[in-house]
Amino acid sequence: MENRPTIKEMFDHLHNHPEVSWQETKTTEYIASLLEKTSARVSRFDDCPGLIAEIGSGKPCVAVRADLDALWQEVDGEYKANHSCGHDAHMSIVLEALFMLEQKQGDMNGTVRFIFQPAEETIEGALKVVEKGVVDDVDYLYGLHLRPIQELRSGQFTPGIQHGAVRFLEGKITGEDAHGARPHLNKNAIELGAEIIHHLNSIHLDPMVPYSAKVTSFHSGGSNTNIIPGSATFAMDLRAQTNDVMAELMSKIEAIVDSVSSLHGTPLGLKVKSNVPAAIVSEDAVRKMEQAIRTVAGEDNVNPVIPSTGGDDFHYYTIKRPGLKAAMLGVGCDLKPGLHHPKMTFDQDVMAEASQILVKAVLETLEG
Ligand SMILES: [Zn+2]
Ligand SMILES: [Zn+2]
Repeated sequence: MENRPTIKEMFDHLHNHPEVSWQETKTTEYIASLLEKTSARVSRFDDCPGLIAEIGSGKPCVAVRADLDALWQEVDGEYKANHSCGHDAHMSIVLEALFMLEQKQGDMNGTVRFIFQPAEETIEGALKVVEKGVVDDVDYLYGLHLRPIQELRSGQFTPGIQHGAVRFLEGKITGEDAHGARPHLNKNAIELGAEIIHHLNSIHLDPMVPYSAKVTSFHSGGSNTNIIPGSATFAMDLRAQTNDVMAELMSKIEAIVDSVSSLHGTPLGLKVKSNVPAAIVSEDAVRKMEQAIRTVAGEDNVNPVIPSTGGDDFHYYTIKRPGLKAAMLGVGCDLKPGLHHPKMTFDQDVMAEASQILVKAVLETLEG
């Protein structure tokens, strides 16, 4: 491709034009505009942002997935879209890999499909595009994610990320308000919330399996501080390294909510807003990725598959299409202070090497 931007130029553009989940339209336009100058076959989704690009033909079919969305968060006192999960880097790395693979198309046996997926952060995008059939004929699927400095140092890589299960819950306390002078006439929703948090902190499951449950939002009361609020909405974030422990955690939380509700005679509702199962990592795909890391970055930079308490909707591809062999490349880049931190930074020089590893993994997979 003539005059294509460098990986850093792509990153700078994407980093400076963040868009939140389901609103990645300019991001999609930008990627499409770059791909127009290549021989890749591009197809857009008709009802959401994101796109598919394909090179080569026939079987096998190897797919590479990049996520597009930024987060909405407070940065220097102002709420805005912000790429603090590194999806801007993922897109740049995958685009660079696409450009490199396009050059090698002539010697390639099989198809490489690039999935630019919207709405990872809301854990909805993968499910949506799976339903569109984007991996129906795919044999191997590779994804990637930048890793925090606590997991990998710059230039180190892992051929798989063993993400845990993640579940977001939404809760509702439905009671009536009372006058501040008459606390016996209702049940204070804030006190009920405090009770739920208290019980949450006394859940004890197998300590050998990492898990956590915490309230991440609680809204109750209004501007009149002489009203005892009877209603509230709240949210919880649950993590568990295995799907079994997630099920156990969930049943304990349901029991807590039910007992607080019946103790006070106040209706309390709880529903699952999103749910990501723990990763199902293919040993075969991991081996191929591991070999690619070894070839590109050297044996010293090959790390074992790492467990992570984070989640990624990447794992829905394998849950929904169990025949798919999938692995996620973990990219060490001295990422600090952490993913989702508004001031997250990482070593951008690692991106080029990550692209080469993806290219190598794809080529080796096509060769069988
Ligand atoms: Zn994220
Ligand atoms: Zn992410």
